Amino acid sequence: MIELRCSGLPLFVLCPSSHSPDFDLQGDSRPASLGTGVHTDIQRVADGLEALDIEDAERQQLVEYAEQALAEIEPLAVDWENEAAVARLGEGWHLTGHVDKLSRFKHIIVDWKSGWLESDYSAQTKGYALCCAVGSTMVSAIIPWLRRRFYETVQYTEDELVEFHDLLTEKVRLIGKAWNPGPHCTSMYCPRRLECPHRRNRDATALTLLGEPIGEMLTADQVVKLDRAIRVTEKLIEIAKQARKCFVQDNGPVAVDDRRELAIIPVNRTAIDPLRGWQVLVEALGENGLADCVTIGKTKVEKAVKASAGKGKGAAKVREVMKALDVVDALRTKMTEQLKVRTRS
Ligand code: SF4
Repeated sequence: MIELRCSGLPLFVLCPSSHSPDFDLQGDSRPASLGTGVHTDIQRVADGLEALDIEDAERQQLVEYAEQALAEIEPLAVDWENEAAVARLGEGWHLTGHVDKLSRFKHIIVDWKSGWLESDYSAQTKGYALCCAVGSTMVSAIIPWLRRRFYETVQYTEDELVEFHDLLTEKVRLIGKAWNPGPHCTSMYCPRRLECPHRRNRDATALTLLGEPIGEMLTADQVVKLDRAIRVTEKLIEIAKQARKCFVQDNGPVAVDDRRELAIIPVNRTAIDPLRGWQVLVEALGENGLADCVTIGKTKVEKAVKASAGKGKGAAKVREVMKALDVVDALRTKMTEQLKVRTRS
């Protein structure tokens, strides 16, 4: 019997061979500890107590929105259970989890999310829904995205949950047979990364760049050499690309084989003029729909504000505008990870 956890389903569905029932996912990371802290605080708030860590501004902001959402969610049922243990038995698998908030009578689950909307957690929520579907043809999931300060409601029909049930059965059969490498192959996500043959193959492929003998795992020395080799190779590739393009510009298309040729092809990219198109787009999408299509770069805005402020007043004007944006809660910070060389402390 394969033990599955709802919290592990997003990775499991992506790569069945990552399965490990005992692994504490994202154990020590900041997102994980923040998520745990926020869940504790929400629980306390729901019980009429104060949140614990009022020093942590990020945590405080997330809990603040959870309080607002709770005020709207609580009246939907009278039998709410918090941190409710749920389970489902399938063909060769046993799925368990703890739903943040559950109404067994109304078949509603609430799944607080303290991460970013971009992450695909839908398999986790579907897992909870599958566990709670017994005795109902429909399960409603309320997913409050605490950072974006809104909640979405998803209805899972019986057909969808049967399909998901079958998907899990299929994925369980693929454990040890199917691998899907990607950005999730890290210590933050994959408990099987150290024994994964796919990852070992990738390390071995990387080492061909150095022409070094292939060991079991990459060593720190090899990573430093790889870093240098990658930088040099990237520069060489850039120069080679320019040389290739120049040749075709000077001499015309070059035959690649009997049917194809390397050629310079004009590519049109159409952008929409925001001033002229604004009204049309608001009418077509509504303000919220349009906002989802638009990204306003902070650096670009800072530059524009500086340029319009006049000599010597730029920095103060930028601070003023950023403060005003913060007051209306319009600033969104997204953490990404970059591999960089920095000065050692
Ligand atoms: S390291 Fe990547 S490919 Fe290997 S098991 Fe984990 S998620 Fe799958």
